[in-house]
Amino acid sequence: ILAIQHLEKKYGTTNVLKDINEVVAEGQVICVIGPSGAGKSTFLRCLNLLEQPTSGEILYKGENITRFDRTQLSQYREKVGMVFQNFNLFPNMTVAQNLMLAPQRVKKESEGDARKSALLLLDRVGLRKMADRYPEQLSGGQKQRVAIARALAMNPEVLLFDEPTSALDPEMVGEVLQVMQELAEDGMTMVVVTHEMGFAKKAADRVWFMADGYVQENGTPQQVFDQPTSERAQNFINKII
Ligand code: ATP
Ligand code: MG
Repeated sequence: ILAIQHLEKKYGTTNVLKDINEVVAEGQVICVIGPSGAGKSTFLRCLNLLEQPTSGEILYKGENITRFDRTQLSQYREKVGMVFQNFNLFPNMTVAQNLMLAPQRVKKESEGDARKSALLLLDRVGLRKMADRYPEQLSGGQKQRVAIARALAMNPEVLLFDEPTSALDPEMVGEVLQVMQELAEDGMTMVVVTHEMGFAKKAADRVWFMADGYVQENGTPQQVFDQPTSERAQNFINKII
């Protein structure tokens, strides 16, 4: 569904992504691991064109997204959603309103339809009771589940997650990973930057180890965690286990 070819991203003279060449197949779950500064967030932001690549191509169903005009870009962003570490919910809107905003604005759904879909999505993440609360009244784990539901409200084909559980208290990590696991089982295509080994082992089809602006290992969770080919990856994995 996504093909990344010779992707490069520079900030000034800093070459953050050097030459990324990977594919994401439909329905695949990819977990991206790697040290701080490796370029994991930059890579995800390029996939969503929150950052413009310096060079290279990102093909979505064969189309080069880096050449999209505004209209194509906004259509693309409906199809490829993103979930952030810090939830990024709108604090002045209720949970339901957070979910209804994009469907109403972008898809021109009526308020009634958008609310109905919002409540169904909140059921899916176990939070229907919270529909009329404000984000500040929720726990971190609940906020992140709302953020996932909000991303799902646009009916995306791919979801990108940037360390979705690393801002959470430990006791809330499980409930978020559970929702992600269910999405994976439902066949959602997902690219997940995470250091949650348990999740990666259970849910990932492939694990990519990123360092120094390259994907240095690409294999099954078993291959990458148990028999990484480079010392660099081995050292990193020993640290996070
Ligand atoms: P972490 O695990 O800490 O989240 P990461 O792998 O996500 O790290 P990135 O956030 O992608 O790493 O950053 C990679 C490098 O790019 C870092 O050296 C960072 O300082 C640099 N960088 C990121 N965004 C910018 C920016 N907007 N301008 C300049 N440099 C940036
Ligand atoms: Mg990051």
